[in-house]
Amino acid sequence: MDIKNRIYIDNAASTQLLPEVVDSMLPFFNSTFGNPSSTHFFGREAKSAIEISRKKIATLLNSAPNEIYFTSGGTESNNMALRMVVESLNIKTLITSPIEHHSVLQTAESLTDIVDLLFVKVDENGTIDFNDLEELLKNNPKSLLSLMHANNEIGNLLDIDKASELVEKYNAVFHVDAVQTVGHYKVDLQKLKNVHLMSASSHKFHGPKGVGFLFIRKGLNLKSFIKGGAQERKLRAGTENISGIVGMTKALELAYKDLNNRKTYIEGLKKQFSSNLNDAFPTLRINGEKGQSLYSVLNISFPKHQISDMLSFSLDVNGIAVSSGSACASGSNEVSHVLKAIGKNDGRPTVRFSFSFLNTQDELTTTINVLKSLMK
Ligand code: PLP
Repeated sequence: MDIKNRIYIDNAASTQLLPEVVDSMLPFFNSTFGNPSSTHFFGREAKSAIEISRKKIATLLNSAPNEIYFTSGGTESNNMALRMVVESLNIKTLITSPIEHHSVLQTAESLTDIVDLLFVKVDENGTIDFNDLEELLKNNPKSLLSLMHANNEIGNLLDIDKASELVEKYNAVFHVDAVQTVGHYKVDLQKLKNVHLMSASSHKFHGPKGVGFLFIRKGLNLKSFIKGGAQERKLRAGTENISGIVGMTKALELAYKDLNNRKTYIEGLKKQFSSNLNDAFPTLRINGEKGQSLYSVLNISFPKHQISDMLSFSLDVNGIAVSSGSACASGSNEVSHVLKAIGKNDGRPTVRFSFSFLNTQDELTTTINVLKSLMK
């Protein structure tokens, strides 16, 4: 099938690079190839591109440039945040939720020789139980709390302000995995003063893969994560991915310039798609919180059918790309840990549709027609 005829509705897994982003990166594959740590002209030119990018990202998020640390993406930022805080700040308890991304959950598990690991309760829609969170924080002052801003599978949005109040009250350190929201929602890190660390990943907002950043609030005083050179103010050694950093910065600038238009358009697509799906499959179930939800994600359990086990595969054969769970779990055929945690692992075929501003109404109409013909 010609790629032009394929339909991509898996934007929470990754997004398409925009042409302006590719253009911004090209000089760093061609002329500007120096090592940013070199002191000669070639190095200084490369270093300057990184520092300009850092400044631009910091301005967009209302932070200071030296609070932005470039990484290889969301997974590394999450590993870095949890491990550095626990190892540097004499943290005794790590509190997280059972529906976090594996990069948080597995890092948390790997730290249990030095911290107690506690999970806050979530309800059947995946919403954090704030009473339980308060109990946990009250009984374990000076904990590290790590929660995601938006869940990548079901789209639930965290009330960061509410969590921040508790963080302040019980003197906790707060890490937010914002991989699904940076570039999709305005972030003002001056206002979010109780968020101490925040992870972001470029390929979720039409930037290149393998690059992201970790915001670390000034004054945290952390020990290095990756040892080696003095890059990233000695916290994350390794020669920087300059083309990636420049491309990510361009993608973030474009995302924030056009944020409201993109958001309104995608919200409209999701609403119409959801309503049309509901007409076609009246017994479908939407997984996750319906009110406080990422505007680009819709997680649906369809009625059981003979092709249940092969629904996303059958869509793929018909040129429609979706995810049957989170991208990281897809292909492994494992039941999603998120659906399991909210008691929605009942064997119904479940699909995560995730939209971008590049999707069209026609694509979604075709998708519904294909779904109808597959599940006649
Ligand atoms: N955190 C969340 C919420 C994600 O959705 C993802 C990727 O899907 C990650 C972390 C990992 O990001 P990356 O792919 O940049 O390693």
